[in-house]
Amino acid sequence: NRRAVGIVGAGPAGLTLGNLLREAGIPCVVLERGTREHVENRPRAGVLEHRAVQMLAAHGLADRLLQEADRHGSCEFRVDGVAHEVDYATLYDGQTHYIYPQQEVVKDLARHYVDERGGDVRWSVSDVELHDVETPEPALSWTNADGARERLECSFIAGADGFHGVARRSIPPGAVQEFSHQHGIEWLSILAEAPPSTHKVIYALHPDGFAGHMLRSSTVSRYYLQVPVDDTVDNWPDERVWTELHKRLALKDSDWRLNEGRIIEKRILDMRSHVVEPMNHGNLYLLGDAAHIITPVGAKGMNLALHDAEVLAAALTSYHRTGDDSGLRSYSEVCLRRVWRAQEFSQWMVFMIHRSPEPFLSRLGQARLEHLIGSRSSAGYFAQNYVGP
Ligand code: FAD
Repeated sequence: NRRAVGIVGAGPAGLTLGNLLREAGIPCVVLERGTREHVENRPRAGVLEHRAVQMLAAHGLADRLLQEADRHGSCEFRVDGVAHEVDYATLYDGQTHYIYPQQEVVKDLARHYVDERGGDVRWSVSDVELHDVETPEPALSWTNADGARERLECSFIAGADGFHGVARRSIPPGAVQEFSHQHGIEWLSILAEAPPSTHKVIYALHPDGFAGHMLRSSTVSRYYLQVPVDDTVDNWPDERVWTELHKRLALKDSDWRLNEGRIIEKRILDMRSHVVEPMNHGNLYLLGDAAHIITPVGAKGMNLALHDAEVLAAALTSYHRTGDDSGLRSYSEVCLRRVWRAQEFSQWMVFMIHRSPEPFLSRLGQARLEHLIGSRSSAGYFAQNYVGP
């Protein structure tokens, strides 16, 4: 079957799948709503697990990443102004995180796919529609950048168009099950042109709520502030953001200071988890955020997207080469095992780093953190799940 695999979405999931399929000689076309410039400059996540980098490297997609990314193997829990370091790399076979902003991952994937491997991306498309996904001859249609309607007959369709994309919405109601959970908290996410004030990620617990200092690059940092549910960005002028970050991240008996810089992005994050089961319907396969979203706690979203792409690419390659469809049949099960593991870990961490309004639960969260700090086995559990099982 020489019909192309139609991929909707040129994020980390869609572009990784495109690269792996081209490497295997399988024709594919990627449809993307945004311009190339837009998707290559969209800051989001920034932490890659060890095994995700190994996968990218095995397919020749990690050249710049391996040169430029910082490697991190420890993080800090700052509890009421007192620092507790957890050296997770030592606890988990020396495996580290790679700090590399998502837009750089996307730039690299687009360069390899489009410029080096001659891959086909249709940028700036609109009104994408999926047709006949329950048949062996599914198709995609869309309006191109010049306003003309186009159609592609596909072998399979990969829906990698994020949580608000069209792919998941094309599945008839009742054909898949959707699991959703709002964690009862909200975060203000801030990106600033400020050099990091730390060499490791800081999770700070303060009576007024959680604050996080994440690492992105030598000139840009991301911060999170727990805010009341239903709060809005308008309530958070820059001055208030910095005052609150200084207060919640303060370190007792130390001259540690938080660097400030120009705030370039501020948004309220809906701290929601969502999983679709199964992750396929007929010949439509969902990947990444189209199939599951997770809170940023634990930094799993982009890593899960890359894992889905790896599993689907292997399944499609095996099917195209030998007709063996066992990988396609087990795709959803294999991915969901990892997705639910990540959801469980993220929920475990959410509970630990936020103080619940219910005093009993709040004390349980505190006990979990004290156990993590004081017990090697608990720290080992954290390390294995944090740096990626
Ligand atoms: P995406 O990266 O969302 O890619 C989907 C692509 O599909 C996009 O390029 C989009 O333009 C395109 N698309 C959408 N609809 C259509 C359509 N109808 N037709 C054609 N193309 C379409 N994780 C963290 O760990 N830390 C963070 O701080 C963080 N911040 C985030 C902020 C935002 C706003 C979002 C959405 C996610 C954030 N995440 C964060 C999660 C992480 O970025 C995602 O898990 C990751 O992007 C998933 O990759 P993906 O390829 O599945 O989806």
